Amino acid sequence: MSELPYSYEAQASQALFDRAAAVTPGGVNSPVRAFRAVGGTPRFMVSGTGPYLTDADGREYVDLVCSWGPMILGHAHPEVIAAVQEAVARGTSFGTPGEGEVALAEEMVARIEPLEQVRLVSSGTEATMSAIRLARGFTQRTKVVKFAGCYHGHVDSLLASAGSGVATFALPDTPGVTGAQAGDTIVLPYNDLDAVHAAFAAHPGEIACVITEASPGNMGVVPPLPGFNQGLKDVCAANGALYISDEVMTGFRTSRAGWYGVDGVRPDLMTFGKVMGGGFPAAAFGGRADVMAHLAPAGPVYQAGTLSGNPVATAAGLAQLRLLDDAAYEKVNAVSARIQSLVTEALSKEGVAHTLQNASNMFSVFFTDRPVRDYDDAKAQESFRFTAFFHSLLANGVYLPPSSFESWFVSTAHDERAVERIADALPAAARAAAEATA
Ligand SMILES: *Cc1c(COP(=O)(O)O)cnc(C)c1O
Repeated sequence: MSELPYSYEAQASQALFDRAAAVTPGGVNSPVRAFRAVGGTPRFMVSGTGPYLTDADGREYVDLVCSWGPMILGHAHPEVIAAVQEAVARGTSFGTPGEGEVALAEEMVARIEPLEQVRLVSSGTEATMSAIRLARGFTQRTKVVKFAGCYHGHVDSLLASAGSGVATFALPDTPGVTGAQAGDTIVLPYNDLDAVHAAFAAHPGEIACVITEASPGNMGVVPPLPGFNQGLKDVCAANGALYISDEVMTGFRTSRAGWYGVDGVRPDLMTFGKVMGGGFPAAAFGGRADVMAHLAPAGPVYQAGTLSGNPVATAAGLAQLRLLDDAAYEKVNAVSARIQSLVTEALSKEGVAHTLQNASNMFSVFFTDRPVRDYDDAKAQESFRFTAFFHSLLANGVYLPPSSFESWFVSTAHDERAVERIADALPAAARAAAEATA
């Protein structure tokens, strides 16, 4: 089965994909969904319950993508759905302030000590874009430091050596971003503090901020080396620049206080999305109150949004966050650890060179026997083995991210039955990876 990427079992998905391609570029609304990195027919999903997704052909999968992180309680969690239904019945958007957005902001601020104030937006891209604008407005400087392989959404100035879909398609830069937009961005190798010090030395008084994924998950999972984030914070503080921790992926996932709850390094600004929206478009940026005070209407840096703080999205996000107590994180971490060891066991048994890396319950497999510390290391893996591994699991009802440059995600709903289905599918997938040729 696994040697047939073009699945005869995906006829309904293929028909939908053909219809989609006629009206949408490449048939998708976000590039990685098109399966280009692995080939084959992207599965069009029609429903999700707990750890499972069902596609248009009626096949069920154990979901290890969880909508790229947000669905940390599994799909269609009854309490989240109830909160959404209650909110929807009261009306879907008012374009005025409302209590739901206050309650969500309070919940976030209560969980994360350095988060003194937040502004809600609708996507992670908006959050990082706005945080960068604010950092530039606050410091009155222009340059931004980012790291190769870190993805911060499709913000023009940050689409230089980004990970995620950009990594998958190996676009060094995208057409449509001008030299001027990218020219103030300094791209450095991840986990290389010397390079950061050198950049500050080369551009004295010019760097507004350093933005980094709190623990990168968009080149696969590549955690910061011990002291790296603290080193970034220190060099920023010493040079009057802001340290921006992008927690769009890690926020409220890697612990109740996100990656800050793991490493305790205090950012000046932070960005959030994914889990905090409970499956709806809600995101945020925030941090030091004295910096946030520069944002309109309190201050001069403009930022706005018609649907920002949407009552349905904030109800979903708040319901999800309130369910995410210590016991929930223990559960996600435990099931993640189980699956990680099953994957390693299966690949080792077939003698497949691999490195499994994790950041709390986020994890991914690199098909290389060397530790992966930066984007170059990640790109050195044997991605063709991932393709075979992916298609074997897909054929056997396990849905992985369709790229070897993405984190895998689990939820509190991944129970014993779901884990067993993964365990049953792994031996054939490991064999397929072992037998794959470039
Ligand atoms: C997903 C992601 C973004 C972008 O969020 P969108 O909601 O897709 O715009 C930004 N930063 C990180 C770290 C992400 O994982």
